Amino acid sequence: MELKVLGCHGGETPKHRTSSFLINDHLALDAGAITSQLSLGEQQQIKAVAVSHAHLDHIRDLAPLVDNRCQQGGPGLEILGTAATLKELKRHFFNDRLWPDFSKIETAGAPTITYRTLRPEKPTQVAGLTLKPVQVDHTIDTAAFVVSDDQGSIAYSGDTGPTERLWQVLNETPDLRALLMEVSFPNEQTKLAIESGHHTPRTLAKDLKKLKQADLPILLFHIKPVFEAKVEQQLAKIKKHHLTVMNLGDQFLF
Ligand SMILES: [Zn+2]
Ligand SMILES: [Zn+2]
Repeated sequence: MELKVLGCHGGETPKHRTSSFLINDHLALDAGAITSQLSLGEQQQIKAVAVSHAHLDHIRDLAPLVDNRCQQGGPGLEILGTAATLKELKRHFFNDRLWPDFSKIETAGAPTITYRTLRPEKPTQVAGLTLKPVQVDHTIDTAAFVVSDDQGSIAYSGDTGPTERLWQVLNETPDLRALLMEVSFPNEQTKLAIESGHHTPRTLAKDLKKLKQADLPILLFHIKPVFEAKVEQQLAKIKKHHLTVMNLGDQFLF
């Protein structure tokens, strides 16, 4: 499985892009930074986007991606999410007000977008991969994803604060190769982190104790640009785990 980092920050500047990761060029996990990072040809290779939750920093590039796709003449793009996430997208985003309802606009004789509802912990096949959503703890309905092929699995946390079920599922995933995990605020902002459903290095270290596979590579994302230096300093003090802060343009093979 090949993973490309298109966006891995909790905010935006010319050097920071919001969350988006591309697997095998065909499946995007979240859409915080797709059209700003990929050529038209690369965009057209994306078959599906799995959306962890409906916050703007995870869905924003669906708008230009779908618009481009419509004009490119297909193929249609599939958007996957839990029932709650898809409801928000239909009601507040592709609602014919903020942006057109592209599920009613055809390209090459088929809807430009189709929706697929994910049910928690029910695996589904998409773009040659198996995708399993797991509910995590954020301010709105949010799913982590376990993505698998015949070589192994990786997990993507979405946005989450301290959580329980995800760790249980990961402990029951013997072929797990890596976890993409959020951390957003420094320890000094713990109150804000808890209120907004995010991690600090300290709450992350505490949650990681629930993971049995202590040597699992943990790939970190969603650091707020304003607090980047501070969060990285604090992460460097966590020695028990293999923590790596992801950078734009990073590529990983699992
Ligand atoms: Zn969020
Ligand atoms: Zn976010």
